Order: sequence, then C-alpha cells, then structure tokens
Amino acid sequence: MKKRVAVLGATGSIGKNTLDVIRGFSDGRFEPVLFSTNSNVEELRALKKEFPQAITALAAENISPMEGIDFFGRQGLLSSIAEAKADIVVNAISGAAGLLPSKAALEASSDLALANKETVVIAGSRIFALAEEKKRRIIPVDSEHSAIFKLIHAHGSENIDEIILTASGGAFRNFTHQMLKGVTPEQAMRHPTWSMGRKITVDSATLANKGLEVIEAARFFGFPPERIKVVIHPQSIVHSMVRLKNGAVYAQMSFPDMRLPILDALCWPETSFQPLGSLDFDSLTLTFEKCDMQKFPMIDLAYRALAEGELMPAVYNAANEAAVEAFLNKRIGFLEISSVVRYVIDSIRPTGEMSIDNALKWDKASREAAESFIKQTGNSLNGSASC
Ligand code: NAD
Ligand code: MG
Repeated sequence: MKKRVAVLGATGSIGKNTLDVIRGFSDGRFEPVLFSTNSNVEELRALKKEFPQAITALAAENISPMEGIDFFGRQGLLSSIAEAKADIVVNAISGAAGLLPSKAALEASSDLALANKETVVIAGSRIFALAEEKKRRIIPVDSEHSAIFKLIHAHGSENIDEIILTASGGAFRNFTHQMLKGVTPEQAMRHPTWSMGRKITVDSATLANKGLEVIEAARFFGFPPERIKVVIHPQSIVHSMVRLKNGAVYAQMSFPDMRLPILDALCWPETSFQPLGSLDFDSLTLTFEKCDMQKFPMIDLAYRALAEGELMPAVYNAANEAAVEAFLNKRIGFLEISSVVRYVIDSIRPTGEMSIDNALKWDKASREAAESFIKQTGNSLNGSASC
C-alpha cells in the first residue's frame, strides 16, 4: 500500500537520505506530501518541482512569501504538518526545534519516524503518552535505537538484561587531553565513519551524542540508566546490542548508512526489503574499547541529568546546543563545551510538572544560563578547562 510521507528537515543529512530512499522505489510506494527546511529556499523549491503534489514549509521567521513555498515561519510549519495529514512523518529537524513538530505530527494522527532524538530527550513521556492517546507509532531512526527497537521486538523486553549502545568515538577518539585543547570546528567535522549534520558531528566528537542517546534509550525503551551501557566500536558496523538475562548478546550489524534505519522506519511493522549492500566478513575487523569517561565527560553528565529528574535532560540538551553553537562560532574551545554544560546542570534546578511547555521553559532558561556563562568567562575559558 502507498504511504504518504512528510519529510521535516528535508534539506539536511537525514532528510536527503530519506529522499534517496523514497526515490529508490520506482513504483511510487512512498508518496511525499510535505517537505520542510529552516531556510534553504532553493533546495525546497527544487523539491517542489520534482514532487509538485507535495506542500512545502519554510520554518525561518520573517521571510516574504514567494512562489513554490506554501507555509512560512514556525507556526506555518506546524500548520503544514496538520494540513499534510501524512501516514508517516520523518522528523529530521536538528535540535530542540524538532519537539513541537513531533507533537504536531502525532496530533495530526500521523506515525512518527523519529530521527530528532531531542524530542525524546526533552519531553519523551509526554510524546509517548500523546502517541498512545492517538494510537500512533513512534519508530526510532537513530541507528542505535533502530537496532535496539528491532532486537527488543525479536527477544522481548522482559528477557533483556542490558542495552549496549555502540559509539564510534568520533573525530578525536585517539586524541590526548592536551591535544583536545586546541582542536578546531573544522577538525571536529571530520567524522571517521558517518557523514552527518554539523551539530551532531560535534556531538559525536564530544560524545554528547552518546549522552543524548543514553537518555533517548532510557526514555524510548523504559530501561533504567544502570542497564544501559556504552562501548566504543570504531568501525560503526555493530549498531547496538542487547544482553539477554541468559547472558547471550545479540547485535544488529550493517554498513554505517542511515538509509537502512530510515527505510526500516518507513516500512515498519513490515520488514524492509530493498538491500543496501552486504557486509563481507572476509575483510571485516570489528573491535571494541572501553569508553574513556574522563576524557569525554559528556556521557557522565548525561547519566547525571537522567538521575536528576525528568526535566533535567532538557537542561543538558539546551546547554549543549548553546555550547556547540558557541564552539562552531569559535567563541569557546572544544573542552569548554562540557564546562558550559556542567555549569548549567549545576546551577539550574528545573521545577514543576513534566509538560512540553514547562520543558521548553527550562530549555530557554538553560540556554540563557549557558550564554551568560559563555559571555562572562569569554576567551578565558578557551582551552583552560579540565575534564
Ligand atoms: P542537519 O543539520 O543536516 O539538517 C537539519 C535539518 O533541519 C535541515 O533541513 C534544516 O533546514 C532543518 N532545521 C534546522 N533548524 C530548524 C528549525 N529551527 N526549524 C525547522 N527546521 C530546522 O541535521 P541531521 O544531521 O540531518 O540531523 C537531524 C536530526 O537527526 C538530529 O536530531 C540528529 O541528532 C538526528 N540524527 C542524525 C543522524 C545523521 O546521520 N545525520 C543520525 C542519527 C540521528
Ligand atoms: Mg545514533
């Protein structure tokens, strides 16, 4: 049966991979009904030309109406999701900006193929409750969670003792603390195995991405933090593992290619059937290493955020988004990203109920705290922090 697909963040890394998957089916199995971008007008118009039946939304504010674009601004993006009434919405927006579009997708009674891990990190329980209320599915696209999602379906959550998330180790896996002091955004962009957007590539280098994924796994699969482990696996072939109560470990392996988890999410609950290449075990070496939490403190900070209440992960995420932005703009050094996040987690105590509005209120407060810390300490931070 034909599936009507909305692609939010269509011009980014996951968005483009999603389009690749859709184009791969010449029988038109997946029919795009909505594309959105933040500000990439030219690419959005090109998509409208290629798929004239789809509506388009430009999320950036204060842009004058123009041909080929149907909806404008943040509110326009939410309205476009309601209007599209897709069978499934692929949320490939980066950052906290993806949360309200996830909510809008479920409110429009669409299933959600979720690459935007921030949705789960900031307000997982609310979003899962909404999905249940609307009787819609949320299928993870993040490769680790896609792997675990399938492993849990295969083995049963009740039989699983431990989730083991794999991490490539990012661009600086072999750097010493001393070497990390001077690294640049350009160096951080050189990911050894994955080609991704700028923010998540920096997060892979600090291992904040794995921190976010520990939180994502806890929320998605209902596992307590002590039953979620992280191991470094530089080849990015094993996408994650589960250890059963009887000790057996099961892994999902495939090339580091996001098209597979995207395809799986689009096809779920059916198994996807378009092969994306086979691993050749004659020429494959797989290794695993202990994660150096001293050198990469962002994982420990994520476990701390998980332990400090349901709203604290939103604080962790917002502080990290602000710090990464400051690093990319060369306002702070690489090591200071975790200093900013630690400062914000130490100083903000989120209160009130777990609601999307309240989580976004603390997101805003955390960004402000991060910004004032960055401004106050300015260049004196650069390279001085210790982990
Ligand atoms: P990207 O930066 O390449 O693309 C982001 C997309 O979101 C772009 O189309 C951009 O126009 C849009 N966007 C940005 N800010 C927006 C805003 N304020 N409002 C609306 N749209 C906005 O990012 P990416 O690497 O594709 O990652 C997207 C999401 O998927 C992130 O949450 C990331 O953590 C997750 N993810 C990515 C990968 C990957 O391989 N790239 C893997 C796993 C999970
Ligand atoms: Mg991932």
